Amino acid sequence: MTAPASHGPVFIDTHAHLGDPRFSSDLDACLERARAAGVLTVIAVGTDLASSEAALALSHRYPHVYAALGIHPHEAASVQPPDVRRLGELAGEPKVVALGETGLDFYRNLAPPPVAEAVFRQHLELALEADLPVIIHSRQAQDAVLDILASLPRRPSGVLHSFDGPLAAARRALDLGLCISFTGVLTYPNAEGLRQVAGQLPLDRILLETDCPYLAPQPHRGKRNEPAYVAVVAETLAQLHHLPLTDVARITSDSARRLFRLGRPTG
Ligand SMILES: [Zn+2]
Repeated sequence: MTAPASHGPVFIDTHAHLGDPRFSSDLDACLERARAAGVLTVIAVGTDLASSEAALALSHRYPHVYAALGIHPHEAASVQPPDVRRLGELAGEPKVVALGETGLDFYRNLAPPPVAEAVFRQHLELALEADLPVIIHSRQAQDAVLDILASLPRRPSGVLHSFDGPLAAARRALDLGLCISFTGVLTYPNAEGLRQVAGQLPLDRILLETDCPYLAPQPHRGKRNEPAYVAVVAETLAQLHHLPLTDVARITSDSARRLFRLGRPTG
């Protein structure tokens, strides 16, 4: 690895599916481009047991990659109890920084809602046991997700990832102690409503993510997304908050380090 861009802004991509087959041929080059763009830390996120184990393996291979272990609501119908137990065992590994992604998806509804909810609740329990935050996927399910969290006597910290509104849900999530993270969707021409939401939230509760290989920001839209492009999301946030990019980088990176208890990059 070459030296990072240590004088420029430093970003954290808090949500990258680095184990996706679309990265299998050039992951080294992708992470090198990320470093050159100031993205010195990446959280590799699992969506089932196999991809969670892959995320953990990547965190062992690359010092600046950390792992989140979870079963996506799309996969919730095929999950077996031993899978969840295995996630719980792996959650104690030092480079595991979160449980997830987990949550509810009433848009695609690939798992029956009661099944998805049971798996989501298992993740919340595991997160409390392991003292880790949760990365929450919530699509057209904000009320249900937030109702579940609000009903818990004790709830983990976490982030509502790839947030898509509305403002009232964001405010409620903040009240429950969650952070909100934005992807390249924030840069899309038809996302004016989402930009208005992002502009009204406290910047120190916002995280940056790519959700790569999905959701590439506007200049790269339709192509494979990668961690380097998280800087584009940061530029949009900087415009919305009328702040220099370096401030957005520092504030969002500090929040990500706090939530996921990440060390400062040494590179
Ligand atoms: Zn994701």
